[in-house]
This record gives sequence, C-alpha cells and structure tokens, in this order.
Amino acid sequence: MAFASHNSKNGLHASRLDRPLSVNSMKSLASSPTALTPTSTRPKSAAPGSSSVQRRNGTGAQKSGKDDSGVSGRVRVAVRLRPRNAEELAADADFADCVELLPELKRLKLRKNNWDCETYQFDEVLTETASQKRVYEVVAKPVVESVLEGYNGTVMAYGQTGTGKTFTLGRLGEEDCADRGIMVRAMEDILADISPEHDTLTVSYLQLYMETVQDLLAPERDNIAIVEDPKTGDVSLPGTTLVELKDQKSFLELLQTGEANRFASNTKLNTESSRSHALLLVNVKRSAKNKQEKDFVIHNENGNSVHVSKGHRVPTIRKSKLLIVDLAGSERVDKSGSEGHQLEEAKAINLSLTSLGKCINALAENSPHVPTRDSKLTRLLRDSFGGTARTSLIITIGPSPRHRGETSSTILFGQRAMKVENMVKLKEEFDYKSLCRRLEAELDKLIADNERQAQAIFDGEEDMERKLEEAGTRVAEAESKLAAALEVISKEKQRQQKELVEMMQNLQIERAHRERLELELRENVQDLQDKKKILEPENIHKEELSDLKQMLEKECELRQQAERELDAFKREEKKLTNGITEKNDIGEIWVLKKRLEQELLEREKLEDEIKSLKQQLLQVHVDAEERSRTIGKGSSARSSGGSNSTISLHTPSNMKDTINGQRATIAKLFEQVGLQKILSLLESEDVDVRVHAVKVVANLAAEEVNQEKIVEAGGLGSLLTLLQSSEDETIRRVAAGAIANLAMNETNQELIMAQGGIGLLARTADDAEDPQTLRMVAGAIANLCGNDKLQIKLREEGGIRALLGMVRSRHADVLAQVARGIANFAKCESRGAAQGYRTGRSLLIEDGALPWIVANANNEASSIRRHIELALCHLAQHEVNAKDVVSGGALWELIRISRECSREDIRSLAQRTLNASPTFQAELRRLHVTY
Ligand code: ADP
Ligand code: MG
Repeated sequence: MAFASHNSKNGLHASRLDRPLSVNSMKSLASSPTALTPTSTRPKSAAPGSSSVQRRNGTGAQKSGKDDSGVSGRVRVAVRLRPRNAEELAADADFADCVELLPELKRLKLRKNNWDCETYQFDEVLTETASQKRVYEVVAKPVVESVLEGYNGTVMAYGQTGTGKTFTLGRLGEEDCADRGIMVRAMEDILADISPEHDTLTVSYLQLYMETVQDLLAPERDNIAIVEDPKTGDVSLPGTTLVELKDQKSFLELLQTGEANRFASNTKLNTESSRSHALLLVNVKRSAKNKQEKDFVIHNENGNSVHVSKGHRVPTIRKSKLLIVDLAGSERVDKSGSEGHQLEEAKAINLSLTSLGKCINALAENSPHVPTRDSKLTRLLRDSFGGTARTSLIITIGPSPRHRGETSSTILFGQRAMKVENMVKLKEEFDYKSLCRRLEAELDKLIADNERQAQAIFDGEEDMERKLEEAGTRVAEAESKLAAALEVISKEKQRQQKELVEMMQNLQIERAHRERLELELRENVQDLQDKKKILEPENIHKEELSDLKQMLEKECELRQQAERELDAFKREEKKLTNGITEKNDIGEIWVLKKRLEQELLEREKLEDEIKSLKQQLLQVHVDAEERSRTIGKGSSARSSGGSNSTISLHTPSNMKDTINGQRATIAKLFEQVGLQKILSLLESEDVDVRVHAVKVVANLAAEEVNQEKIVEAGGLGSLLTLLQSSEDETIRRVAAGAIANLAMNETNQELIMAQGGIGLLARTADDAEDPQTLRMVAGAIANLCGNDKLQIKLREEGGIRALLGMVRSRHADVLAQVARGIANFAKCESRGAAQGYRTGRSLLIEDGALPWIVANANNEASSIRRHIELALCHLAQHEVNAKDVVSGGALWELIRISRECSREDIRSLAQRTLNASPTFQAELRRLHVTY
C-alpha cells in the first residue's frame, strides 16, 4: 500500500493546507552545523571557460547564497568519495586518484589529466574518511528533521555501482554500530521523535526494476501500479505492504527482509541488484494541535467551503513522507551491457535513471517541460525534484582513474541536481475524521442533553400545570373568601352607617337637650339671684338681730326689775324679821317666802336664757368677723332640677358671708331652741313676737336643709295661715318670702298647691300694694310656674292671672319676678309640647300674657327683658302659637331677638324658631322681610 493512498483509503477528504516552510524549520535546517549549505563563493580556482560550476541564468551562486533561510528549497547535493578498495589499492597503486577533495572549501577537483582538473562546488564534500554518522548528519538529518516537522523529504544516493550507495544508505551496522547507514539512523531519529500514542509510522520497501515496481516486503507483489491523484498530483502505490513500525528492531528486520527478498528476487530473475532502484518509503503521520481559535473557512476537495466555528477546533494531522532511494548504478548501459545484457534490456533498466537525468536537466535549465511521466522512477520522485519535498542527494564516487568518466558523469549529475529548486511545503491536513468523531460525540451528547431537557420541560410543564391548577383553586378560594369578606364588610358598613345616623339623631336630640339644660341652668342661676333679691335675707337678718337685741334688752329689763323687786323683798323680809315680835303675821311671811323662792327660780331661769342669748350674740359677732376675713368662700351650688332650684346665698362679698354666718348662728339657735317652739311663736298674740318668729322661719326656709323640717313641723300651714289672716304687712311679706323659699322644692310646691297656697298667694297678690310683698308673692308663684305637673292647676286657680295682675306695681323687682314666672311657665309648656304630653295653644296666651310680653320684650331692664325674650322664644317654638305670635305683633320682637339679643343661645334659638316655622316664613315672605 502506497503512502499516498493512505489518505483516500482512510476516507479522509483532506484538503491540503499548503503553507511555506516555517522560518523556524528553515532556521533549524540552516543552523545545523552539518547542514548542507551552499557556498557563497565561486570557485575562483576554476579555470576560465571551464565553467564547471553551472548556474542557471546567472542566479546560481547569489541565489543559492541567499537561499539559506528562504522558503525555497534547493536540492542539496553532497559528494562522497569511497576509499580505495582492495582491488583498487592493488591495481591503481601507481595511479593517483582521479579526484581531489577540498572538503573545507566544499570543492572537488576532478583530474582530467596530470595537468588539468576541474573543480566543482558542492553543498558538502565528504572524504573517504567521512564517518557514517557525519554523512548522515550532513546529508540526511536535516531532511529527517524536516519530515518530522511535516514536510516531505527525499534522500537519494546516485553513483556508479560499487561506489558506496548502499553502504551509505542501507548499512544496518549490526556488527559495528558506527557503520549504520542513513536508513537506520533516520529511523532511529524518527522513532525517537514521534509519539507512539498519537503518531503513526508506516514503512514500505519497494524495488523498481525494469519499470516494474515490486514490493520487497511481499515479493509476490511484483507489479505494483503507480497511481497519481489528478488534482493534487500525489503519487500513491496501492497494494504496497505498509508496515507500521513501533521500534527500531522491527525496522531492522524489515530492512533485512527487504534485502533478502531483493537478493532472492534478483537471483531468481537473474538480475543485478545494482540495476534496480530500492525505495524505502517512510510515512509519518503526526497529530498537530491547531491553535486557531477564530472561526475560519476551509475548502474541501469539491470546492465547497466549510465553516468551522470557534470552539470546534479542527484537529490537524501532518503527513509526511521520507523517501530514501538507493538508485541503480549510474554506469553506462553499454558498459553494463557489456556484461551480457541485451541492449533493450539495458535500456529498460536504465530508463528510469535516464529519465531522472533528463528531468533534472530540464529542471536545472528551467525548461518548461519536465518529462516526469517518462518513467516510473521520475513519477515516483516527482515531488522530490521540482516538487514540495526537501531533497538531499548524495553522489558517490570512487577514486579510481579508470572510472574517471563515470565519476565525471556522476559529478555532473550532482551539479545539475544542485540547480533544482524545490518549493518546500508543509503537508498539513485537517483531521476531519477526528473532528467528525468529536462532533458526532458532541452531537450525541447534545441530543441526549436535549432529550433530557425536553423531558425535564415536559415534567416541568406537568408540574407547572399541576401548580397552575392548585394556584387556580387557591385563587378561587381566595376570591370566594374575598367575596364573603366584602359582604361582611358591606353589612358592617351598612350597620355602621345606620348606627351613625342613629348617633347623629341622638346627638342632635342630646344637643337640643343640652341647649335646653344650659338655658335652664342660666335661668335657674338668674332665678336664684332674683330669689335672693326677693327675700333680701340680709335685711331679714338685720331685723332678726335687732329683734333679738330688743328681746334681750327686754329680758334684761325684766331681770333688773326682778332684781329690784327681789331687793325690795329682801329689805321687806329683813324689816319683817326685825319687827316680828311686834306684828307677827306668820302666814303672810310664808306666802312671801314662797313668792320669793319662785321669783328666785324665775330669775335663775331668766339669767340662763340671757346668758345663752348673750353667747349667741357673741357668737354672731365672732362669726361675722371671721366670715369677713374669708372672702370668696361659700357653699357650693345645689340643684334639685326644674326651675325651682335653690342656690345657697353666697356672693363674694363680706356682707354675704356675714349673713351666712348669722344664718348659721340662727340655725344653731334653731337647733337649741327647737323648731316647734319657733313655729309656735308664729301664733303668738304678741305681734312683735310673731313678726320676729316669721322672720326666723323665713330665714330658716332659705336653707334647703331646713325646708323639709319646716314643712314636716307644719310650718307651711302656719305660714299660709299668716299670709291669709295676718293684717300686718311685714308678717305677710315675710311669710310670702318664706313660702317662696319653700316653693323652691318640688315636693313643697305640690304641698303648697295642695294646701291652697296658690289661691292665698293670688289673693295676696290682688290685695297687697307693697312692692316687696308683691315681689315675694310673684317670686313664689314664679317658682310654682316652673313645675310641669302643676301648670294646669296653677292656671285654673288663677296663678297666671294673679301673676299678670301684679304688673300693675310697675316696680322693676316685681316685674322681673313676673317675667321669670312667665318664662318658667312658657318653658314648661315648651318642654311638654316637645315631649308630646302638652298640646294646644299656650295657656299664657289664653290668659292674655302676650300683649304684656310684647310690650316688655324689649324692656330696658335686662332682668326683665331676658326672661321675656326667653318666654317669647319658647312660645314661638310651637307652630300652634305661631298665629297668635304673628297677630300679637311678637314676630317683630322675635326677629329683633334673633338679631340683637346679647345672649348667643337665645339669639340662635330665635333664629332656629323663625326658620323652622312655616307660618313665620310665610309671614316674613308676605312682609318681604328677607331673613
Ligand atoms: P554500490 O551500492 O554503490 O554498488 P556498495 O555500497 O555495494 O556500492 O559498495 C561496494 C563496496 O565498497 C562494498 O564492499 C562496500 O563495503 C565498500 N564501500 C563502499 N563505500 C565504502 C566506504 N566509504 N568505506 C569503506 N568501504 C566502502
Ligand atoms: Mg548497491
């Protein structure tokens, strides 16, 4: 199997990536100390005209001199001279060698005769003493190194038979390793350099004899065809044995086998091995890593481009061939033919060699036609001469002058071969098979990955679907929960809104209620202040005190009188005791004694009373002083509700405090003396005593704590009796005041009414002229007017009428109480109407109160005006009274109140009232009053 067929047989459609020899490889070639280096000088010694150094187109020496590191690779030629053999030593003993070597000048002198010689320049001149090692290193080693780098290489020996071609190339050196020839040494170097794992080394050994190629490793293959690739021009020998070598030993065996077969074959065919060419083909296939990382395009043999992406680094392999050719002897045919061969046969034997000579000539002369196809040898060596291989030729010559012609011929052949320029190129191929395998592996992996991913996606989709379903369920649940929650929220919202509305309503009611209460409170405060005025307790107290003083003085007088009487009695008794003898009237004395004792007891009793009264008086003064010091301190207000609240008399004045102190003293007195005794004094025959007593009771009645006790003890009845029966103005006034005070209490109000109090008060109101009496009476009725329960009865028994009758007095204090009473009544009516138990027209209006109300609504006295304003607002609040209000002219007052009233609450009440009433609104429209 031929080396060139190896590629196609492996099915690798290799596209050759030709590239020039690398600089490095050239350098290594050039730097080799034994490399064949062409001389840079012309052989000056050469005789003129005898241009034995033949150069083509004059470019020879200069060009070759510059070729050391060039990409072009000229065929290197070395000459080796064989030492004289035994025969020559004997036969030519008297003759000088026909050649003289000048190895240091790399020149050879060929003697023509004794006086003339020709000098030839060679790349290397190896003397007869040159060692095999040196010959290898100079001739073959650079080529071997080049082959190991991926270039084709040829080492060839040319020369006459017996000059040492086989010695130079094929010596095995089994006996003496120094004899090892180029083949063995080359193989040693190759085996040492290649990697057994990655590189392959195959060898073929052939013989070319009479244009027949024979496999020396399989001698039966004796007609091996030469096949040329029409595109690349590669020559291959399909069918040749291709032995893969791993070690030197097997190579030596191979060589031995080949030599043995060659010898046997020649013997059998009766041929001479010297007439045959032996060709050792060494194929080196080395994998080389392509460092190229970028995308690149390569072209396959069909001319199609293949894009190779980065990351898919194409492994490259370098295939190189080393061809070592032991040529047949170059001696002339006729000469050899003289040894018994037929001429034709001889011609055939040397056809290849002749053809080689012609080709080299043509190449040397740069002829356009190189007849490489004329012979099988030239076909096989097509790459070695004028091709891309690095070629080294060693010509072997013998020293004998007898063969001077042959030697000269050999030298000329070598000289011409030196002119042959090869273009050394690297044979590098992309290892598509390997790439394909790798890509297939990657593809398989990707397919597997893809399948797994697809499955994972499928699983993921299923999982996702399941998750989506779950999520959907959860969303549905959440939605239903949300809907339920929204419903709850909506209901809650509705409920809250309802509550809010209710609360708003309640708030409005509460607000109205509060306003009413506030109003009432203010009225009550005012009321109490008015009451205070009615009662004028300070006056009462003053009178009380003076009364007490008078009583005391009286008592003192009585005592003094009693003392005087007692003294008179004592004196009488003494006189009687002294004159008893004369006028003894024992009975009279006893009587007198008894009277005296009685008088004494009476006196002690009186003295005790006086003492007590004095203490009381003293206490009164002390308290008064004390109170005057503590200003602003009093008892707190107490409210019993309604319009009849009472407020203890307290004003931030010394006088008020003094009164309180006095009242407290009276209270003590009341405790010590006893209520019953005081009340009994109301019926005393003595007017003065009655006056004093009623004043004390009135004063006590001003205190709420005493009111119940007074009523329980029948004080109310006594007071009413006094009011009815007493002719004394003072008693009636004070009694009315006391009743007014008692009328502050709701229970008492009912009792007063039950005991006919209103009738008595009304009569008093009719009869009395004294404004203070009228004030008291009006105050009492005003208090009763504030009781919701008593309104009808009060009115039926003439209470309103009596109240209105008292306005005749014109006294401001009286009018104020009347106004208060009307306001109280109107307020109760309003409250009753608001609460629904009072319907119908106002009883005040029924009893004709409206004209006075209208007349006094703008009274300059604020105590009157305020009550009237309030009363009017209460009356106007109810639509049932609206017409009377309008007809009575009260509307204008109401408008005035709504605009001018100093009290904000009354003002706003008037405004609300005006706005709320359709009657008023209609009237206002009718009157074109813009409100
Ligand atoms: P060729 O192959 O050219 O016909 P060989 O290699 O057979 O010649 O050599 C012929 C003889 O000469 C052999 O005996 C060989 O040993 C001997 N010989 C050739 N060259 C040398 C040399 N350089 N030194 C010693 N002996 C040599
Ligand atoms: Mg030989």
